[in-house]
Amino acid sequence: MDDCIFCKIIAKKIPAKIVYEDEEILAFDDIRPQAPTHTLIITKEHYAALPEVPAEKAGLIAHIFAVAPGIAAAKGIDKSGYRIVLNTGKDAGQDVFHIHFHLLGGRPMAWPPG
Ligand code: AMP
Ligand code: ZN
Repeated sequence: MDDCIFCKIIAKKIPAKIVYEDEEILAFDDIRPQAPTHTLIITKEHYAALPEVPAEKAGLIAHIFAVAPGIAAAKGIDKSGYRIVLNTGKDAGQDVFHIHFHLLGGRPMAWPPG
């Protein structure tokens, strides 16, 4: 997707602090962190949001969750805890329409979320 900022990060056309990469997914630090650790984990294939991920690609989402604990450990928040957030659509405040999971930690999180 030519006009997608996260596709540009995948293509290394714009810089990001990449913390994990494999053939299927990429993780990089959020440019406007909302917590001491705020890393985004994305699929390399462009899907605008969760409903666009076909059932046969559900393994990609599972892969993100398989990798996330290692990223949390590398960030030093595996013992203190962390939250993984997927915003979908307007009411959730989704701004970037390339599916991404927020990995947040390093401070206590409120519940219910705002
Ligand atoms: P959302 O509101 O769930 O769509 O989250 C989009 C996130 O992408 C926000 O937390 C932004 O700070 C983050 N973001 C936008 N542009 C960039 C960028 N170039 N590099 C890193 N994070 C970004
Ligand atoms: Zn994209």
